[in-house]
Amino acid sequence: MPELRDLYQEVILEHSKRPRNYRALEGANRSAEGFNPLCGDHFTVYLDIEGDRIRDISFQGSGCAISKASASIMTQAIRGKRMPEAEELFEKFHQLVTGNAGADNAELGKLAAFAGVSEFPVRVKCATLAWHALRAALKGEQHSVSTEQSP
Ligand code: ZN
Repeated sequence: MPELRDLYQEVILEHSKRPRNYRALEGANRSAEGFNPLCGDHFTVYLDIEGDRIRDISFQGSGCAISKASASIMTQAIRGKRMPEAEELFEKFHQLVTGNAGADNAELGKLAAFAGVSEFPVRVKCATLAWHALRAALKGEQHSVSTEQSP
């Protein structure tokens, strides 16, 4: 049994206590909600998109340390990226937290702190919640996404 403190690495704790880009975004032209009923995590992700570039991103809501830190680090990783790059990063992050990471994770940066989540399957939904909301917002879907309705 892996120890829980390995999961809550310093970077995750720090971001959960002081989340970055934690606000509603003025001038947002996309937004989507994500809800994880198993844990009670609930976040809204706001995007300011021009063409296929994510000019700005922010989030608000409440949830456990994992979900909040993941959303916080995601906003830092995604800002300024093009939409296909954001999708690609989500794929890599998803592979990481489900224990299927490839050899090349250099571009994950701080997101690599979530590698320990793969040892706690129930936490995968916490770690990916904000990303699912991001994807919904990128697609321009206005409805909310739930981890319990994912295909
Ligand atoms: Zn959670």
